[in-house]
Amino acid sequence: RTQETLLEVNNIEVIYNHVILVLKGVSLSVPKGGITALLGGNGAGKTTTLKAISNLLHSERGEVTKGSINYRGERVQDLDPAALVKKGVIQVMEGRHCFEHLTVEENLLTGAYTRNSAAETAQDLEMVYNYFPRLKERRRSQAGYTSGGEQQMVAIGRALMSRPECILLDEPSMGLAPQLVEQIFSIVKSLNEEQGYTFLLAEQNTNVALRFAHYGYILESGRVVMDGPAAELRENPDVKEFYLGMS
Ligand code: ATP
Repeated sequence: RTQETLLEVNNIEVIYNHVILVLKGVSLSVPKGGITALLGGNGAGKTTTLKAISNLLHSERGEVTKGSINYRGERVQDLDPAALVKKGVIQVMEGRHCFEHLTVEENLLTGAYTRNSAAETAQDLEMVYNYFPRLKERRRSQAGYTSGGEQQMVAIGRALMSRPECILLDEPSMGLAPQLVEQIFSIVKSLNEEQGYTFLLAEQNTNVALRFAHYGYILESGRVVMDGPAAELRENPDVKEFYLGMS
């Protein structure tokens, strides 16, 4: 595993509506080829951190007021989300956001909008179906009628269709039964190991995230309070007590 840093967040501050300070100096780095987890409870600032990286804060009247965000050593803060996708960074939003009236396959194809080779798109679709055989079975179904787990698969599959390098995954476990959470995380792990995708994932489910990630950052009220290799965090007494419910 190489230790080249893909994404670097340096001491960022985020303010909503000009007054609400939500991130109070967050720093993290995402190594190429790794699965990095951003952990913390409800409202800790995980989603805000991901949206700051992919420049999606404007529509929520949020802005990065301090610090910097670099991708492959280049400042990316002023790029719009589409330009960032071209650089290889894509976000899978919390809550999945499928186009409900389109079929599963049409949803996946919308992810290829930045690309223009039909042959490559067909190849990528096969790759997605290979990792998510369930989506192949459901490819002609209207996305709005598929289950929550299937919609999460569609959301990840659609991101893969842009041929990303780094995938920001917001709360993939949300609203899913434990068995499905396990299944989704196993697929993420295979995609990481077999295809080399880099993941930064935000999760409230510390237990599952620390079993699949390589490294973790724990956020509390807009600050990183702890970080380390996932195996070490799993054994940390505070993490056990406050995040894993084992005391
Ligand atoms: P969750 O699991 O609930 O998504 P999170 O760790 O992702 O939690 P954020 O969604 O980043 O947390 O929210 C961090 C804080 O910022 C919360 O206190 C939230 O109320 C606040 N916040 C989020 N979005 C906005 C907004 N558009 N305007 C004002 N405050 C916001």
